[in-house]
Amino acid sequence: MSDCIFCKIVDGSIPSNKVLENDKFVAFHDLNPVKKVHVLIIPKNHVDNIATLNADNESYVAGMLSFVKDVAKELGIGEDGYRLIFNTGEKAGQTVFHMHAHLLGGEEMGWPEA
Ligand code: 5GP
Ligand code: ZN
Repeated sequence: MSDCIFCKIVDGSIPSNKVLENDKFVAFHDLNPVKKVHVLIIPKNHVDNIATLNADNESYVAGMLSFVKDVAKELGIGEDGYRLIFNTGEKAGQTVFHMHAHLLGGEEMGWPEA
């Protein structure tokens, strides 16, 4: 998608502070972190969000959680604990419509959070 900022991060035309990358996924630090550790994890192929997963794209993102585990380990928070959030749709606060997981950690987090 030519006008998608996360596709531009994947192709390198927008710079990002990358944590880890493999053939299917990339993890980079959020521009406006809300926790000490705030990393975004995205599939390299464009998918709008979880709600638009279908037979054509769901196998592509099937390994995403395994990649999250590797990212958490790379960040040194694999043992401490962390939170994974997929804002899906406008009502949930999704602003960038390229599927992404927010990986939050590095500090104590309450649940439920105000
Ligand atoms: P959403 O609200 O869609 O779940 O999350 C989008 C996230 O993308 C926000 O946390 C926002 O700070 C982050 N973001 C938006 N534009 C950029 C960018 O160009 N670079 C990086 N690293 N993060 C971005
Ligand atoms: Zn995209």
